[in-house]
Amino acid sequence: MSAALEVKHTDEIISVNPATGAEVGRVPRVSPGDVRGTVERSRAAFSSWKNTSFAARRALVMRAREVILSEMDEIAHLISAESGKPFGEAIAMEIAPVLDLMQYFARNAEKMLRPARIGIGLYALLGRSSKIVYHPLGVVGIIPAWNYPLSIPLGETAMALMAGNSVVIKPSELTPLVGLKIGEIFEKAGAPRDLVQVVTGDGRTGAALVDAAPEKIMFTGSVATGKKIAEAAAKNLTSVVLELGGKDPMIVFEDANLELAAGAAVWGAFCNAGQSCSSVERLYVQEGAAEKLTEKIVEMTRNLVQGSGENENVSIGAMSSEKQLRIVENHVEDFKKQGAKIEIGGHKSEALDGLFYEPTVITGAKNEMLAMQEETFGPTLPIATFKTEDEAVRLANDSEFGLTASVWTRDLAKGKRVAEKIEAGSVCVNEVLYTHGIGQTPWGGFKNSGRGRTHGREGLMELVQPQHIHINNLAVLPDAWWLPYSPEAVKTFRGFAKYFASGSVVKTTRLLPQLWKRIRELRKR
Ligand code: NAD
Repeated sequence: MSAALEVKHTDEIISVNPATGAEVGRVPRVSPGDVRGTVERSRAAFSSWKNTSFAARRALVMRAREVILSEMDEIAHLISAESGKPFGEAIAMEIAPVLDLMQYFARNAEKMLRPARIGIGLYALLGRSSKIVYHPLGVVGIIPAWNYPLSIPLGETAMALMAGNSVVIKPSELTPLVGLKIGEIFEKAGAPRDLVQVVTGDGRTGAALVDAAPEKIMFTGSVATGKKIAEAAAKNLTSVVLELGGKDPMIVFEDANLELAAGAAVWGAFCNAGQSCSSVERLYVQEGAAEKLTEKIVEMTRNLVQGSGENENVSIGAMSSEKQLRIVENHVEDFKKQGAKIEIGGHKSEALDGLFYEPTVITGAKNEMLAMQEETFGPTLPIATFKTEDEAVRLANDSEFGLTASVWTRDLAKGKRVAEKIEAGSVCVNEVLYTHGIGQTPWGGFKNSGRGRTHGREGLMELVQPQHIHINNLAVLPDAWWLPYSPEAVKTFRGFAKYFASGSVVKTTRLLPQLWKRIRELRKR
């Protein structure tokens, strides 16, 4: 592959179209010193933004949506040019879902973050009450991957702003112009100065952002980088959300609608050229349905047009980097060496210049094979078989990852039962891959697929700090546990342990005479 397709290590980054090798644009590699300055300015912007009303925050996010809608095609072309994905896919899988997420949090964050009373059991009988108030964190640093260069960082930005935070984004070095576009969208929407800033660069710029000690890091990328970030963030006790890799299984039972399952497998494995963290990377089909399902999958795969993402008839675009393409080549070679069979595909696309790999269907895959354990992140669909429900669950869970999974069956009770046994953050029954697009639901992984959540209520809670406000509404008597201690105090404490801590009002009434004695003792001193 020509050197033009590599990221050049100069003080600027040249962004190239992986389908053509053509330069898309150049951006600076922001130095650590400048990153620190950016975070300081962000903190200043936060000091005003945190005091804004939800109505003002909502207005900004809704205006940003309008900017996106008015520039939809231009933005989709930019995503396609930098990442290689089909233009239509950029709209369907990035722009539409993030617009939905933005309107949802713009309209609902206030309700979700409303101060809430908490039940405090028997303490309430002592005249106490408690509520939770949610405060913004401060500067949120967002470090995304290149595969959904708009929707992931933009969705996190919108949520962070609704929660009252300021944002600094360090986009992937493969898709920096899409990252800058996010800053431009908020500028056009009238965001206050420095509220949403973008620092372009590679891993070093990302590391500088972590070192600059923002209040939170939202990271999306590989397990290896996730570990480095967790370690670096620990120095400042910066909390991190890590959205990492996947090796997502799809389980197809004999009683499934095989036509639908085949279509889902083909889309789930090959959309975005297989470069989704929730791509179908392993398909387990029950023996009796294996032949029929494989035939359908191969037939559908044969009809897919591959090429430049600009062409609206293209279903499979280019891969985003040469490094990624090499991983796919190595994994397919490993499948061949280990005795699996390539049903269709299996090569870099010779007919096309650029970073294209043919959509590839493999049968006879076994969990012991390297490419059934390591994340491939490319257009491959390895198929393995199973006999029983238990075996399917065991095979699906035999992985260091646990991001998403899907179960296909007409028996919904079985589907739900199996789904709950799968170790993954999001499991679909008769659906596949797309739950990141439902901004209302939590997103995140089990095992090495990540820590923490983005999206949904759980994701919003990552972007605030809860504060407990506790009120003694009576405040006329001293508390029985105050100093000084005495034999009367110890008797009372025993009563607390035996009666009050039981949670039972009836039992606690037995403590009342002793409690009163102790309080009188305290009042006399
Ligand atoms: P990567 O880890 O190489 O890079 C991700 C980001 O981290 C980039 O912006 C990069 O510049 C930055 N970075 C690199 N080193 C850094 C360091 N030391 N400190 C701070 N930042 C640093 O990952 P990638 O190749 O861009 O993305 C592919 C991976 O992302 C896959 O494993 C995929 O599964 C995962 N992913 C996960 C999700 C999810 O939601 N779980 C979503 C998309 C992608």
